[in-house]
Amino acid sequence: MKICVLPGDGIGQEIVDQALRVLEKVGEKFGQTFETTEALIGGCAIDAEGVPLPAETIAKCKDADAVLLGAVGGPKWDTIDPAIRPEKGLLGIRKELNLFANLRPANLFKQLADACYLRPDIVARGLDVMVVRELTGGIYFGEPRFDGEKDGERFGYNTMTYYEHEIRRIAKVAFEAARKRSGRVCSVDKANVLDVSRVWREIVIDEHKNYSDVELSHMYVDNAAMQLVRDPSQFDVIVTGNLFGDILSDAAAAITGSIGMLPSASLGEGNPGIFEPIHGSAPDIAGQDKANPLATILSVAMMLRHAFDMTDEADCIEQAVEKTLEQGYRTGDIWQEGGKAVGCVEMGNAVLENL
Ligand code: NAD
Repeated sequence: MKICVLPGDGIGQEIVDQALRVLEKVGEKFGQTFETTEALIGGCAIDAEGVPLPAETIAKCKDADAVLLGAVGGPKWDTIDPAIRPEKGLLGIRKELNLFANLRPANLFKQLADACYLRPDIVARGLDVMVVRELTGGIYFGEPRFDGEKDGERFGYNTMTYYEHEIRRIAKVAFEAARKRSGRVCSVDKANVLDVSRVWREIVIDEHKNYSDVELSHMYVDNAAMQLVRDPSQFDVIVTGNLFGDILSDAAAAITGSIGMLPSASLGEGNPGIFEPIHGSAPDIAGQDKANPLATILSVAMMLRHAFDMTDEADCIEQAVEKTLEQGYRTGDIWQEGGKAVGCVEMGNAVLENL
């Protein structure tokens, strides 16, 4: 298995280093060989090559079976030409690889329950939701769009569009993901108002015929937002369009209260997926051995599960992370009274030990 590693900027290198140690150890344990190659993206690529996404990086990613990314950006590049900002590297590589599905699990480890923003009785029921967001269609890309004037005043619009094939392929990703979890998919739309949502719902129902072992339900997006904070335990996989998914995935992640703990995956068809923590490059703590590497380590688990179908290996990493939390190890972002304060490397050591 070939993995292209893009550490990026800020804490990127520190967290990726720990994740790679975990990958190597899992490989040894299960007799798997992972070949890794590194490439530049974001601010470090701008410094070295003058662009946030060099052609060599694109080629190395396309040649790999999966991509592991740290984070990009930082104050050093905040004032440069917007056309070559570090974030352009991220959007560019997602586009190059045609990654249309974004998987964002929001999982609250019981050891970190105190960090959750919800009431303890709600938290007690558990929080383990996977939001599958369509990433390359919908209102963010739909044509026509307009920003101008009409009838003597400012006027603008965007268009929410979905083709059947776009809905079908994201529904497939959600059903497949549900098979690896609790087997339930809730499709979120606004079919009571939007025509595009009625098409969405019809196609999801049709695709479900190929996944009769998975339970399918439907919910309007306004209700889904409410249910997510009222009782998230009712959800397993949520599948939805680009706009609704953007909002719901952030809400689901935020309520866990631990940004340094959450991984993500962006998947396409016939191209390598990108696996990365949801947090940024944390320039305020970069180079100080303070970063929490667990989101990146859990991104490796997602990579093994979704890119390589290595369920046992992925489970093993997730259990090692859980045990590490159980033993009280805490980086600054998740530190609580009584916890064992550790840095990035020591947290990595503890996970390795538990593997
Ligand atoms: P951020 O996620 O980098 O940091 C927000 C806060 O969370 C900071 O206080 C930071 O110290 C803390 N934090 C984040 N990850 C942590 C970790 N692993 N361990 C411990 N603490 C952690 O968001 P920001 O400050 O808004 O953005 C900083 C830079 O990152 C910006 O340049 C932004 O554009 C970029 N960014 C990149 C990505 C990405 O690469 N996917 C995502 C978001 C932001």
